[in-house]
Amino acid sequence: MSKSLQAIRGMNDILPEQTPLWRYFESTVARLLDNYGYKQIRMPIVEFTELFKRSIGEVTDIVEKEMYTFEDRNGDSLTLRPEGTAACVRAVLEHGITGGGQVQKLWYIGPMFRHERPQKGRYRQFHQIGLEVFNLDGPDIDAELIIMTWRLWGELGIRDAVKLELNSLGTSESRGRYREALVEYLSAHHDKLDEDSQRRLKTNPLRVLDTKNADTQAVLVDAPKMADYLDDESRAHFEGLKARLDAVGIPYVLNPKLVRGLDYYSKTVFEWVTDKLGAQGTVCAGGRYDGLVEQMGGKPTTGVGFAMGIERLVLMLETLEQIPEKISRQVDVYLCAFGEEAELAGLALAERVRDQLPNLRLQVNAGAGSFKSQFKKADKSGALYALILGDDEMAQQVVGFKPLRGQGEQQSIAWDALAAHLATCVVQG
Ligand code: ATP
Ligand code: MG
Repeated sequence: MSKSLQAIRGMNDILPEQTPLWRYFESTVARLLDNYGYKQIRMPIVEFTELFKRSIGEVTDIVEKEMYTFEDRNGDSLTLRPEGTAACVRAVLEHGITGGGQVQKLWYIGPMFRHERPQKGRYRQFHQIGLEVFNLDGPDIDAELIIMTWRLWGELGIRDAVKLELNSLGTSESRGRYREALVEYLSAHHDKLDEDSQRRLKTNPLRVLDTKNADTQAVLVDAPKMADYLDDESRAHFEGLKARLDAVGIPYVLNPKLVRGLDYYSKTVFEWVTDKLGAQGTVCAGGRYDGLVEQMGGKPTTGVGFAMGIERLVLMLETLEQIPEKISRQVDVYLCAFGEEAELAGLALAERVRDQLPNLRLQVNAGAGSFKSQFKKADKSGALYALILGDDEMAQQVVGFKPLRGQGEQQSIAWDALAAHLATCVVQG
């Protein structure tokens, strides 16, 4: 194929053999969020570039070098969203749905775009499920977010493979005092810092804590700790969160170097990390951003949220082989009919069965074919049972019912009794 007909590097097709697992993941999360009282919001994928500059912060990796930005035909600078929080805040402000202290518990799903170096678990178009809560400022809601994800890992069967890392960045006042102390300390060790960190020291000093450079990490060992700079309010909030996680029995490790890539966090920050995916180990990350809405021109409105990377979580399910049987097998029953008359009767019979068993995954053979070829297709479909309609069955108004996976002999079932019989052999729903 010519080069112009290939997908863009780092932007992937999700093929039919992969979509069942994606949909299983997405529907599991959606059901969980419904049950906890969260409502879905859908925002556009493209926004004015200014939105991301104002919210994410000019001196972050995303805004500095990862955004897909272009001019549209009107000359407006637009950007493919690199994350969801900014657009979500824009949307709630634009529609006034957080005004007067109204609580909003929202979630969204969809593609995000960042011009990063593509590798396993890191793509240029990737997908997130994100969640934002507005106007609840206590640690109880921070805890609920984490408890919900903990339940999700349990339902997905990956709980033992993820670890919760937790930190508090304090209020903006305490973070300001900490930043001063950190800058003073790092400036005294300026020559030992890597180039990137030297630059960050001037633009976004907290991000130095995030460094992967070994020399800089060595300098950081004795650096001032955020925990020593938390004011009473931040400390009480953090203790409140930990007490709730303890009450539910969710283990966590405190990571004083966890600062998150984005500028807007305050108080709680957390990440769920795994060692099962190589270098791309963060599957879900979030925190509190009490100042963001005001920074974006709204009235003071607290916020807390997280986003999880769907590619990485799907990869986890595959790596840990946590794929439900129902997902790997897409067909329950396959109907084979031989001859025109049987084909017509088969179609009508299939519809009657579908009326009675709406969750049954019943596939009717298309394209006719010999006994042998239809049977081969039935077997290849993965179905548990084949239904057979030939001349004999037509004459007796029955259908042949043949287990394909080695459980028992073929039997004849009367047309009227077919749905009831299937209901006893195939797990529905
Ligand atoms: P990382 O440190 O891995 O770059 P991040 O801090 O940039 O992550 P967030 O902006 O917090 O990530 O996004 C939340 C989640 O989205 C991440 O924890 C990850 O699971 C997923 N994610 C982020 N960037 C990518 C990407 N380029 N490809 C795939 N998933 C991603
Ligand atoms: Mg990143």
